Amino acid sequence: MNIIDGKKISSEIRAEAAKKASLLAGRGVIPGLAVILVGDNPASISYVTAKEKACAEVGIRSFPVRLPREASQEELLGHISAFNSNPDVHGILVQLPLPEHIDESAVISAISPEKDVDGFHPANVGKMLLGEDAPLPCTPHGIIELLVRCGVETSGKHAVVIGRSNIVGKPVACLLMRRKPGPNATVTVCHTGTKNLAEYTRCADIVIAAAGRPGTVTADMIKDGAVVIDVGVNRIPDQSRKSGFRLVGDVDFQSVAPKASLITPVPGGVGPMTIAMLMDNTVKSAERAARLN
Ligand code: NAP
Repeated sequence: MNIIDGKKISSEIRAEAAKKASLLAGRGVIPGLAVILVGDNPASISYVTAKEKACAEVGIRSFPVRLPREASQEELLGHISAFNSNPDVHGILVQLPLPEHIDESAVISAISPEKDVDGFHPANVGKMLLGEDAPLPCTPHGIIELLVRCGVETSGKHAVVIGRSNIVGKPVACLLMRRKPGPNATVTVCHTGTKNLAEYTRCADIVIAAAGRPGTVTADMIKDGAVVIDVGVNRIPDQSRKSGFRLVGDVDFQSVAPKASLITPVPGGVGPMTIAMLMDNTVKSAERAARLN
């Protein structure tokens, strides 16, 4: 079977985090995660709910904050500042995207880098680029974990990343090119300025699709035996569903799966890994704090 079971791998990672959390609890430290949601975007609500549910399973205490869409930036920054100085909180997550009147980068920069479990703070992004120890962004780290745990050889392989966003494309490219014992891959990053995307993907041993466009990768764009990681989460109308939509990735799964040696489905591939790595980052942050006490 060539379908990567992200649910199974993510539950292994969550079980490992739960074990570490229970060791910490034995020493009187309960890992804590502040989860801040501004507004009522349905996708954001479902992500936040899933994150809080995972916290409960792992043994992480969540500190939920729900703010109305009109909440001011000052109010949000006030909550972040309080969590920064609360020793029971080891991680702070602000669900993105934020409403337009709030400056996202000011909010991310206000989170203490030690509690930045999303790995988005500029100081942590800089450390990641330098190869220093820092909380890694959850989705890119989850992709690397999938490759490692599926035994995919990355060293010396050609990885093509489609997308250059700050939360997926750029960081996953950065992690893939890390020296051994990192992935040690040769990395090409493609984006909307890339002429003839297929020319690049056809040469790839590993394709990471993070464009946010259904059908970006089709069978003719993939070489036989390539590993295909589909990061995309796209809602497309489907009247046969109660919700009126279904989720698809960026890859045309039906045609690409028979050619790929390994492929992630959507849903059930990269998605669950993102939450698992968030749990892992939160527990690690609590471990660091416990060592300092
Ligand atoms: P984003 O900020 O919209 O970035 C998309 C990137 O893809 C951009 O760099 C864009 O190029 C590039 N792109 C778009 N269409 C392209 C095309 N036809 N050919 C080549 N490049 C193209 O999106 P994102 O935040 O990185 O997210 C990407 C996808 O992953 C979305 O579907 C999102 O929902 C999903 N996602 C999933 C998870 C998860 O946990 N599974 C987590 C995060 C994101 P330009 O820079 O030139 O515009």
